[in-house]
Amino acid sequence: MAGEPQDDCLFCKIVAGRIPATVVRETDTTVAFRDINPQAPTHVLVIPKAHHADAATLAAEDPELAADVLRETRAVAEAEHLDSYRLVFNTGSGAGQTVFHAHAHVLGGRGLQWPPG
Ligand code: 5GP
Ligand code: ZN
Repeated sequence: MAGEPQDDCLFCKIVAGRIPATVVRETDTTVAFRDINPQAPTHVLVIPKAHHADAATLAAEDPELAADVLRETRAVAEAEHLDSYRLVFNTGSGAGQTVFHAHAHVLGGRGLQWPPG
């Protein structure tokens, strides 16, 4: 069923506390934690606690939860004192998605080039 925890999902395990993570913020519906392989001085992942495979699925299945994730990216940026930052939702393996539990990357703390390549 949409939103149910998946046994083989890394981020569901982080939500359940079965894998450690450096959590920076948590709400009833979301968790924000530092990326294990940071690509910028601030690199935080914001995820819904409920399992949805990617951002497109999340937006379709639970738009209010998608809004919660987006709201939390702003809270992370404020907490990290970022005035400029980038939000990334890699969607599909061809776009670099490797973990199939929806997540927003919040990247900041250095200059970021556009287009990203
Ligand atoms: P994607 O490539 O799917 O958009 O992003 C997945 C992100 O999850 C990558 O940036 C990767 O470094 C991060 N990641 C993978 N495994 C772990 C982990 O066990 N803990 C944390 N904190 N981040 C992880
Ligand atoms: Zn999951």
